Amino acid sequence: MKALVYDGPRQVHVKDVPDARIEQPTDVLVKITSTNICGSDLHMYEGRTDLEPGMVLGHENLGIVAEVGNAVVKVTTGDRVCLPFNIGCGFCRNCEEGLTAFCLTVHPDPKMAGAAYGFAGMGPFWGGQAEYLRVPFGDFNCLRLPEDAQDKENDYVMLSDIFPTGWHCTRLADMQPGDSMVVYGAGPVGLMAAYSAMIQGASKVMIVDRHPDRLRLAEQIGVIPIDDSKGDPVEQVLEQTNGRGADKGCECVGYQAHDPQGHEDSAMTMNRLVDSVRFTGHIGVVGIFLPQDPNAPDKLEKKGRIAFDMGKFWFKGQKAGTGQANVKHYNRQLRDLIHEGRAKPSWIVSHELPLAEAESGYQHFDARDDGWTKVVMHP
Ligand code: NAD
Ligand code: ZN
Repeated sequence: MKALVYDGPRQVHVKDVPDARIEQPTDVLVKITSTNICGSDLHMYEGRTDLEPGMVLGHENLGIVAEVGNAVVKVTTGDRVCLPFNIGCGFCRNCEEGLTAFCLTVHPDPKMAGAAYGFAGMGPFWGGQAEYLRVPFGDFNCLRLPEDAQDKENDYVMLSDIFPTGWHCTRLADMQPGDSMVVYGAGPVGLMAAYSAMIQGASKVMIVDRHPDRLRLAEQIGVIPIDDSKGDPVEQVLEQTNGRGADKGCECVGYQAHDPQGHEDSAMTMNRLVDSVRFTGHIGVVGIFLPQDPNAPDKLEKKGRIAFDMGKFWFKGQKAGTGQANVKHYNRQLRDLIHEGRAKPSWIVSHELPLAEAESGYQHFDARDDGWTKVVMHP
């Protein structure tokens, strides 16, 4: 089959690889019809991780069930399904509690929790930027879609990651109707966090970035754009909130945060969030901060440890919630919001490409070229 393979930093190629196939009786094989490029793919693409060459990338997948293993009972051939990016077993303590991003069964390293498709450090599972994807524990990890699946494919594919991840960020921040919210980062994840806050009845949503195209998109759904290349974003948030700061905040950038001039400072968004959120406010953190590995080459050092102002966070009595999104936990509800026409996350899709053009899709999205907000590929 054809698949997008990671061959090294900024080296990804569409090539022939062995076909994905049923390996366990609980597996489901899915013919992929839509697969997105994510900001998380860029960590690997840019060579910021220890991913070995040869991995098929792609964790935001949707397709049609092509084959099921002998022990699969719920999912059948021909079903249109969306695949949450986390792979869970469904029966461990964490999965039972809905914490499927921290499954205790699937990752082969017993010291780890959580697994995902096509991801550095998240197990050996190939991704879905390919013609076919093997889905372990298929009954648990396939979200079946209703009869409008084909018409709304670009909406439903966002259920694999960024819509639930944005939603998760607002839940980590304990956003309540009537709260004001500030989101750092207007990439696909930040835009989905702002969108989720709007749907849940925030009184005012602000988003900080410096890309005019991304800020314009946010403005189109009623979010207040804050351009940090035009002045201190904290001052701008305080001006919008009677000098007190937003009730809640979302971190949707991660350790690759930088200033508008391009100088990296991994702690920048966390420190600015503490300054932008009111005393006793809550902050959700879904941007990725890679753990520091003492044996890692230079590229990983100091990326997990950041210069976070713990003292100010403590003094302001704030709370923070972190981690990967438990996609499965939100999937059924967000699917139904799409089905009933109450949510349409495809508004962020800027480009649809055949898989054959994946390399150019990666280049443009990585460069944050003007207008390249979210890329969906159709193998
Ligand atoms: P992206 O790289 O497209 O977007 C990041 C945005 O942040 C860019 O628009 C960039 O201009 C902006 N930015 C950089 N520095 C900034 C600063 N100092 N202030 C404000 N904005 C700044 O990526 P994305 O797809 O939106 O993903 C965002 C983060 O979320 C990544 O770290 C990604 O790995 C992570 N992520 C986490 C989960 C999860 O489950 N927790 C899921 C998906 C993605
Ligand atoms: Zn993703």
